[in-house]
Amino acid sequence: MKILVTGGAGYIGSVAVEQLISAGESVVVLDNLCQGHRQAVHPQATLVVAELENRQAIDEVMTTHRPDAVMHFASHTLVGESMQQPFRYLGTNVVNGLNLLQSMAEHGVRRFILSSTANLFDQPERMPIDETERIVPGSPYGESKYMLERLLPWLEKIYGMRYAMLRYFNAAGATPERGEDHNPELHLIPIVLGVALGQRESVTIFGEDYPTPDGTCVRDYIHVSDLARAHILALAALEKESRVYNLGNGRGYSVRQVIETARRLTGHAIPALMGSRRAGDPAVLVGSSRKIERELGWRPQFDSIESIVESAWRWHQRFPKGYQG
Ligand code: UDP
Repeated sequence: MKILVTGGAGYIGSVAVEQLISAGESVVVLDNLCQGHRQAVHPQATLVVAELENRQAIDEVMTTHRPDAVMHFASHTLVGESMQQPFRYLGTNVVNGLNLLQSMAEHGVRRFILSSTANLFDQPERMPIDETERIVPGSPYGESKYMLERLLPWLEKIYGMRYAMLRYFNAAGATPERGEDHNPELHLIPIVLGVALGQRESVTIFGEDYPTPDGTCVRDYIHVSDLARAHILALAALEKESRVYNLGNGRGYSVRQVIETARRLTGHAIPALMGSRRAGDPAVLVGSSRKIERELGWRPQFDSIESIVESAWRWHQRFPKGYQG
């Protein structure tokens, strides 16, 4: 099969590309490299540098490469930023997704996998959160993903376009070659490991007055390789029907527990300062992946926070300057 991967130079997309290539698929990456890295793109993938704002550029990729399926990772993805710059999300994320979907519809591409998010579940009634949970987006970021999710059943009905919506909890960890490298870095695990590498003085904990056992936010960290594998399985499963899955480990760890784990693994004291809450952050987000386990036999191979942070630590030690190093 030929797969078009938008955002294939980014953190999760580049690992999905790595796995698609290992599985013998042919891959075209469409990325504007504003957050992604050329070096993150697997050498056997074809990289097209273009903007999803540019319908003509997307159409050209469709006619030149004739993909059988699209995995759409390219997106602005920061909850906090989306509370400051909502139109980057409610505007750009949505319009870019629409451009891609419209081009797919017009070029007869009938398989679509959407990177969606646990930020759809801002007021969960049950924990861990499964696919029956009420959707209440927690930010313009979550709303932008929900807007795209809502288009998909229509496109299935009208064009026969099958879709998988994959709602990620907290992506983390690294493969030996590919890891997390954002600029600026705002995610907890790479920040904590940056302190361990001596690149930062300390980590600031965003709020210690949440209704959780130690007062800090609880998240479900899921390894990027496990996430990527779910895409490969979901793509094959589209042959039968469209899919909606939550992707987490089913266990939550507090910000303090993550920092403690990194202290143990790195042997560094990792000073932590107390800060105020970050807008848009719910207290607890833990996902249930029972459905994808049951239907597709997916199980996380990295099922402990230690193994996840350890894989990231190896990558950050190997590439202390990230992809620039
Ligand atoms: N966090 C923190 N300090 C930081 C970065 C993140 O305390 O410097 C917290 C954040 O409030 C959240 C958790 O760590 O509860 C995970 O945040 P991250 O940005 O890694 O992922 P998100 O949950 O936003 O997808």
